[in-house]
Amino acid sequence: MTGLVLYNTRTRTREAFEPIESGHARVYSCGPTVYAPQHIGNLRPYLMADLLRRALEAEGLRVTHVINITDVGHLTDDADAGEDKIESAAAKSGRTAAEIAALYTEQWKNDRRRVGCLEASVYCKATDHIAEQIALAKRLEAKGYTYRIDDGLYFDTAKFPRYTEFARLDLAGQESGARIADVPGKRHSADFALWKLPAPAVQRQQEWDSPWGRGFPGWHLECSAMSTKYLGAPFDVHTGGVDHIPVHHTNEIAQSECALDVHPWVRFWIHNEFYDLGGEKISKSKGHVLVLQDLVDRGFEPLAFRYFFLQGHYRQQQAFTIDAMEAAATGYRRLLGVAVQVRDAAERPDDAVISAYRARFREAVRDDLNAPRALAVAWEVARGADLGAAEKRALLLEFDGFLGLDLASATPRTAVAESDPRIDGLVAERESARRRKDFAAADRVRDALAAEGIVIEDTPAGPRWRRT
Ligand code: AMP
Ligand code: ZN
Repeated sequence: MTGLVLYNTRTRTREAFEPIESGHARVYSCGPTVYAPQHIGNLRPYLMADLLRRALEAEGLRVTHVINITDVGHLTDDADAGEDKIESAAAKSGRTAAEIAALYTEQWKNDRRRVGCLEASVYCKATDHIAEQIALAKRLEAKGYTYRIDDGLYFDTAKFPRYTEFARLDLAGQESGARIADVPGKRHSADFALWKLPAPAVQRQQEWDSPWGRGFPGWHLECSAMSTKYLGAPFDVHTGGVDHIPVHHTNEIAQSECALDVHPWVRFWIHNEFYDLGGEKISKSKGHVLVLQDLVDRGFEPLAFRYFFLQGHYRQQQAFTIDAMEAAATGYRRLLGVAVQVRDAAERPDDAVISAYRARFREAVRDDLNAPRALAVAWEVARGADLGAAEKRALLLEFDGFLGLDLASATPRTAVAESDPRIDGLVAERESARRRKDFAAADRVRDALAAEGIVIEDTPAGPRWRRT
């Protein structure tokens, strides 16, 4: 038995976690739609999934973590009308859909790394899995769960009696305000596209042949198809933002349970609440998104944002403000300061002294990933008058396996972090050149900085710089 207890959206209760396959946890996280920069709110689902992953590993489980990348089919309107977000971003920018997707995938991957998220076992793109999606839709069609209209192939939600169960939907109530007319022929507002056929006048960059005509997959299909490919069915945990519960996750469940004859398709559904980013001012649609690099430009270390994340429970809404970020950065610097003070402690820690702290930290992690409580225990250790340097060092390093704050490589420099937007920008430029495998460009930046007496160190949390 693991000691981990998680709040499961499916049952609306806290449940003890046990993997289906002994010793192996299989986790799928809904990933980004890569049509625009991912803002700092978008990082919360991945930080949450990262905590989950670390908590599962702390229970001694091997974790297979799959994250998808949505690069086709996600429309501006959840009712299957509207434009494809990627196509529309491509048209507006004059770049290809593939270029747009590659650009923002890179930004997202880089930002995830910078905030200390461990790499997923698999990153899978929707456009790389068209055949799997078509196969799943064919299976649903063969079993009688679909109907065809001019707009494409649709899932008939009336054929799946459990449809409303997951999100506790009130479809009768919804019907009155339905936008069913947006797609002529749609039988019910909740029905959703498995395969879309573009209107004759619409020119798309991304389309594929299918038994229903040349078109593109509906957004929800990719998650069912790719999770089945990489994790099998059923699997243990599916994560995502709370906004996905009523439509995206409800539809994923409908498709998967009907196509695969499995119930429950996923044992645990874990959802993160939103950050309040200040409404209009920094919303994606208005084009003023606050991205991690904006925080770096203001002098924050990326891991200070992780510290901010750890200060709130993932199921609580939280207001993000620059003041709150500053408080988090101060807390983070202080914790690094303690880690530096005890860094060279060479004595053996006294197990009897540390076991009580260890137990309390573990209890916090096991209590639905209670990061704020875990962080509070780390602070008790950092301040603890009853603890020697060796005990503090051992405990902080152990706790960092969950916190992911890179306390092990804390140096006096990071403890009082220097910040310089110009240098941070150049380091980021080198990083993106390296990711493009343009090593000549990366080396040019490195050499230019070296000439100023600045060295770049590559750490698991991303590159850092210091003056020599
Ligand atoms: P998107 O790329 O827009 O599909 O968003 C990716 C993920 O970020 C989704 O799972 C959303 O639930 C999540 N998300 C978007 N905005 C916020 C926010 N302000 N706070 C937390 N999560 C968010
Ligand atoms: Zn999904």
